[in-house]
Amino acid sequence: MNNPSKQDFIKFDREHIWHPYTSMVEPLPVYPVVAAKGVRLILEDGRELIDGMSSWWAAIHGYNHPELNEAAHKQIDKMSHVMFGGLTHHPAVGLASLLLKLAPGPLEKVFFSDSGSVSVEVAIKMAIQYWYAQGHPEKHKLLTIRSGYHGDTFGAMAVCDPVNGMHHLFRGILPFHYFADAPMCGYHDKWNEKDIDSLKNLLNIHHKEIAAIILEPIVQGAGGMRFYSPEYLRCAKDLSAKFNVLLILDELATGFGRTGSMFACEKAGISPDIMCVGKALTSGYMSLAATLTTAKVSDGISADGTGIFMHGPTFMGNPLACAVAVANIKLLLSNPWEEMVSRIEKQLINDLSPCLNLPQVADVRVLGAIGVVELNHPVEMASVQKRFVEKGVWIRPFGKLIYIMPPYIISEKDLTKLTTAMADIIAEERQS
Ligand SMILES: *Cc1c(COP(=O)(O)O)cnc(C)c1O
Repeated sequence: MNNPSKQDFIKFDREHIWHPYTSMVEPLPVYPVVAAKGVRLILEDGRELIDGMSSWWAAIHGYNHPELNEAAHKQIDKMSHVMFGGLTHHPAVGLASLLLKLAPGPLEKVFFSDSGSVSVEVAIKMAIQYWYAQGHPEKHKLLTIRSGYHGDTFGAMAVCDPVNGMHHLFRGILPFHYFADAPMCGYHDKWNEKDIDSLKNLLNIHHKEIAAIILEPIVQGAGGMRFYSPEYLRCAKDLSAKFNVLLILDELATGFGRTGSMFACEKAGISPDIMCVGKALTSGYMSLAATLTTAKVSDGISADGTGIFMHGPTFMGNPLACAVAVANIKLLLSNPWEEMVSRIEKQLINDLSPCLNLPQVADVRVLGAIGVVELNHPVEMASVQKRFVEKGVWIRPFGKLIYIMPPYIISEKDLTKLTTAMADIIAEERQS
């Protein structure tokens, strides 16, 4: 299709291209975007939308950033990709060394992959291979909590919430793991030690077959946008040591400052055995993720003499993505990111709290640069999205949740436009 008319272009998309979680029979509307700069998405018809989503946690510095563009241009003029088998390069080594400097605790080995889901697959395989090599092949189950989200590939999907993740569709193929009740204590709530009972009971009964606990630290993202108590995470860490299972933390959404800490696990003062990062790793420029682990785990994997860790994606350590990630992390560190996130947090609390007075609102939650309004009923995504676009903002609700996690660079004025649009649209929702 050369220069298809706008109608043809949309028609072709609707007839032939899947978008995330959509039907090809009844496709949802899509908005053609032609450029993005700072916190603005520019639509084909010239309209500009203020971005409240950071393209799903990723674009922390906004779009089209001169320093990140320059890093990409410089690297593309050298090489955009080479295989990582038998070769290495400065972008990958530079990125690994930066990541390990930032990462909590004794994490000191890095496995690069090309998406968050794959970094979770890698984490799960590390845990299982670790126990296998320790002479415990029976330790091959995972333990997690309900309302979680860890990605869409089979291994990752098997630890997503069984209901949200539609496990029934894949019954018989999806591996079975253990699910504890999700924590009930919110981030700011007084800790109730009963909250950890479900996890503790499952460990008590099944620890001999459990390789690892896998959790999103503090923030459960796509599974419900819930913020839970740091005490829960501390207890999970203690229990992992007590019952001899590994702890995997999935920091794909929370990593790189989103909650106000560089990594969310720092809020509990703990570190995992295995940690996944991605999304904001390149500020959304390229698809890149990494799985970090300790020398104990990496040495342990090779303890039985077979030696190798069984994973190696084609685009592992992609130099272009790594070069952008290096520039991205340097940019983050050169910015007063803690102040930026805390300023957003204050404004979100201030602007969104009044929504609690609306009868259609069940809860308002804010943590770092994440603001969530939970309604009493699911919203009609397509029509709500359309009304947001008419108001000049890009906010994508799901289920009962209308939420934003804007780029850290957003100005007070632009953030006000996002929160005002949220409040207005929520007020228009029916009240039951
Ligand atoms: C987005 C996300 C993933 C999956 O990452 P992809 O890059 O979409 O594969 C996994 N876990 C969490 C917590 C996420 O937010």
